[in-house]
Amino acid sequence: MGWLVTGGAGYIGAHVVRAFQAAGIEASVLDDLSTGFEAFVPDGVPLIKATLLDRDAVREAVQGVDGVVHVAGYKYAGVSVQRPLHTYEQNISAMVILLQEMRDAGADRMVFSSSAATYGTTDVDLVTEQTPNHPESPYGETKLIGEWLLKDAGVAHGLRHTSLRYFNVVGSGSPDLYDASPHNLFPLVFDALVEGRTPKIFGDDYNTPDGTCVRDYIHVADLAEAHVAAAQRLAAGEPIEPVYNLGSGAGSSVRQIMDTIREVTGIDFEPEMHPRRPGDPDRIVAAGELAARDLHWQMRHTLEQMVATAWEARQKAGDAYRG
Ligand code: UDP
Repeated sequence: MGWLVTGGAGYIGAHVVRAFQAAGIEASVLDDLSTGFEAFVPDGVPLIKATLLDRDAVREAVQGVDGVVHVAGYKYAGVSVQRPLHTYEQNISAMVILLQEMRDAGADRMVFSSSAATYGTTDVDLVTEQTPNHPESPYGETKLIGEWLLKDAGVAHGLRHTSLRYFNVVGSGSPDLYDASPHNLFPLVFDALVEGRTPKIFGDDYNTPDGTCVRDYIHVADLAEAHVAAAQRLAAGEPIEPVYNLGSGAGSSVRQIMDTIREVTGIDFEPEMHPRRPGDPDRIVAAGELAARDLHWQMRHTLEQMVATAWEARQKAGDAYRG
């Protein structure tokens, strides 16, 4: 029994597994280790090493589970533009197999990792769950289609589900769990600092107070707890929304992040200015009120703690988990 976490050997999934353990709920993991690490799976947690495209492995993994937290997927918007068919295969074909096998096994609860990428560029100050969806990459499209799959499986097969739209997930809940994503701000800045290069800011001519992009950074351990609350709500049969934003309502600019990194690491540096990275919107900040109401969602960690925990994990990881 317990919950299966797909992608549970990855940075976010491994935090979700730990949050379930902390809540006294058994967890198991299905992960092909393409971007995850066996070492991220705690001792004693069953790990099936297989892709979600392997129907037999999925069938075995969902036998007897109470529900599934579906974290596994390919997450880089830019890469998905170059490899749309791969992204659709990994994020959609795989999810169809997972949902079919869950239906056949009688596993009828799912918490799905969705993304702010479903919204695309928006000029609203605070993104709510009612903000229209305009995904701008195959990645964002697959997350929205994943939400539709859940809705339709809910109507036809009685699946109970919710989708959590993540904003910018950073930090670490344990020094052993490092996010080495090769495209994201924190790991790129840390790599530069460790290797004696100067961190880069992509664009300082945005329509924001200091000209650099504003994003809603949330700590991965806070994020992980929301999955447990969602699973418990599904298990209790309580009303649940189809979609929750996991955001803070407050944004930080790239320059503010750089300043915080300078303070926390004690490394003095002045970032280099570079042209805008294609496809980066000025500002994306979410309202998290719905999740606060239903999922006890709250930001326990400050920006300083996000940087400090991520930096500690980066130093401990050394070269072990380079993306
Ligand atoms: N960014 C930057 N320098 C870097 C990496 C990222 O200035 O080395 C900026 C990027 O342009 C964006 C913000 O940091 O405005 C957050 O980027 P990230 O890739 O972490 O997340 P995104 O919001 O794009 O999903």
